[in-house]
Amino acid sequence: MLAASARLIDGRTVAAALRRRVAERVAALAFQPGLAVVLVGDHPASAVYVRNKDRAATEAGLAVQTIRLAADTTQPALCAVVARLNADPAVDGILVQLPLPAHIDPGVVIATLDPAKDVDGLTALNAGRLAAGHPVLSLDAPDGTALAPCTPRGAMKLLGETGIALSGVRALVLGRSALVGRPIAAMLLAADATVTMAHSRTRDLAAECRRAEVLVAAIGRPEMVRGDWVAPGAVVIDVGINRVADGRLVGDVDTAACAAVAGAITPVPGGVGPMTIACLLENTVAAAIARRA
Ligand code: NAP
Repeated sequence: MLAASARLIDGRTVAAALRRRVAERVAALAFQPGLAVVLVGDHPASAVYVRNKDRAATEAGLAVQTIRLAADTTQPALCAVVARLNADPAVDGILVQLPLPAHIDPGVVIATLDPAKDVDGLTALNAGRLAAGHPVLSLDAPDGTALAPCTPRGAMKLLGETGIALSGVRALVLGRSALVGRPIAAMLLAADATVTMAHSRTRDLAAECRRAEVLVAAIGRPEMVRGDWVAPGAVVIDVGINRVADGRLVGDVDTAACAAVAGAITPVPGGVGPMTIACLLENTVAAAIARRA
């Protein structure tokens, strides 16, 4: 147990509610949305993620196909699989599980994806729309034009759960990856937060963090954010998932120390992690409705 004053934001409960909502929406549709997940090789963590995605999507009523390809699949062969899925009218969402084996350039594969089926929001078109401030496609915003990455969308939903009014808030995003840091910064900016992005070249990271009313950590460094980096009452969203030497899963934030200072914090596991799959289901159904409209 944490000696916490912070409210723990329960990602499992929020994700379960979103999955139920998606299932209800699917049940009311005249067609069955389809999701294709492509896994190349036998990366152990990826295999677990793909199994979980398959199970959650099936439970929500989606037609799921998981395509498992050998680790030595060539880049052109993988691109041909993606092109076939692009052309398949029964497929509404395509997710190519990353990381790919070293001989495949993920940029080339992502560039092959039909942006309308790009349910992890990684194509240049979707990333560009998000960066340009276009509205994010969702079940609540069927006219949105940007499919946004699932993990940052999940992180934003957990921020919403805290009830914090983001307009004008000082938000710091720690990490600038295309998958997490950049899209979440764009979403915070769209919500009128005052956004600072920090990364490995940022000077005096601790001081930057202490200024933040909302702190999002996505750096892949186990428990790097210390208790004295957090402003009293701040909302801390920990995107990190790191397996440490003793086998535990920890975030990028020292949860126990930060929970003693923060106003609300996401645990690891059980915070942002479960939201990713729930948002993948939402993106797939929203993309299906948009594509068939
Ligand atoms: P990434 O691509 O490795 O990017 C890490 C970012 O953190 C980079 O921008 C890097 O800065 C910055 N960084 C690294 N070390 C730093 C340091 N010492 N000080 C300041 N900044 C530093 O990682 P990612 O894909 O964004 O993932 C981040 C974390 O989220 C990981 O723990 C990952 O496992 C987790 N994750 C979780 C989910 C989920 O489902 N919950 C999904 C995706 C990722 P530079 O750009 O300067 O190198």
